[in-house]
Amino acid sequence: MNIENLVRPNIKRLKPYRSAREEFDGKADIFLDANENSMGSTVGQDLNRYPDPMHRNLKAELSRHKNVSANRIFVGNGSDEAIDLLIRAFCEPGQNTVMLMPPTYGMYKVSADINATETVQIPLDQDFQPDVNAVCQYLANHAEVKIIFLCSPNNPTANLMEDKRLEQLLNVFNGLLILDEAYIDFSDGTGWLNQLDQHPNLVILQTLSKAWGMAAVRLGMAFADPRIIDILYKIKPPYNVNGLTQHMALQALQNRQIYVTMVETIRHQKNVLINALEPLKQVKRIFPSDANFLLVRFAEHQQIYEQLMQNGIIVRDRSKMPGCQSCLRITVGTQEENNKLIQVLKEMES
Ligand SMILES: *Cc1c(COP(=O)(O)O)cnc(C)c1O
Repeated sequence: MNIENLVRPNIKRLKPYRSAREEFDGKADIFLDANENSMGSTVGQDLNRYPDPMHRNLKAELSRHKNVSANRIFVGNGSDEAIDLLIRAFCEPGQNTVMLMPPTYGMYKVSADINATETVQIPLDQDFQPDVNAVCQYLANHAEVKIIFLCSPNNPTANLMEDKRLEQLLNVFNGLLILDEAYIDFSDGTGWLNQLDQHPNLVILQTLSKAWGMAAVRLGMAFADPRIIDILYKIKPPYNVNGLTQHMALQALQNRQIYVTMVETIRHQKNVLINALEPLKQVKRIFPSDANFLLVRFAEHQQIYEQLMQNGIIVRDRSKMPGCQSCLRITVGTQEENNKLIQVLKEMES
């Protein structure tokens, strides 16, 4: 696969902005190159210097945690930044298209729309798996498709995509397959990070927002062939990941045991929640979940949604998405939160 030929010509030609700190790679004690405030910051902490635009320390640490070499790692202001940059780098507006497989995460379409890139939708099949035949048929005479987005475990359906189907898609597609693994930490599957070497057109997205409990700091990752990573670094805003975020992300990675324990707790609470939901008359179906949430089909989802809301519990109404009729998406909460949820639902039964 020739990655360079997939990139938009203007991006290929682009001379990127070089920040002061990037131009210098020796050792120095006195920094008078970036018009920072040499006196310090207004809050006392060490904040007066621009952060590392190349995220070197963070990538080194992520490289150890993920067992992926640092030149295959991009970090961004949430995975949402990587989604946007990937479309911007590879899709010529009004010309190339992005393939989506609904029901899935809403940001792919929003990002494509912002970048004036049309989306083509090939729905997941009855089991919420990619419809490989339909995809292949479409791709056979639509060379303008540059990117396919897939999410595994998928939001909002909570299931993992089958390895075999992903393999088929990777082999047949001549563009980038972007696999969003935001929820992979909660799953029994291993994910696709260890397959990066074999598939130069595979891009994997992960995030600290879910299993690591760091949604507020905004730290997303893209893992891919170094040529793709270089392109993302070339076009990103120079200081896309701020110093506080880099600092907190490094700290989070030092607390791996807390992450492991929380993931175990969430997986346990999910099973408790499933067992409590199953006997309820209102509950028609709980879809298998490899994530930290459940997709649940109710008899009267609207009534449930409103009753929960009146009790101060918000869940996500996904009933308008294809294949998700009458479904609500419920994030696994703490034991107390889940108990309250079940209590409200039980009261409705009687
Ligand atoms: C929550 C979520 C993300 C995380 O996005 P961030 O910008 O990293 O917070 C990414 N993809 C999916 C499918 C999600 O549900």
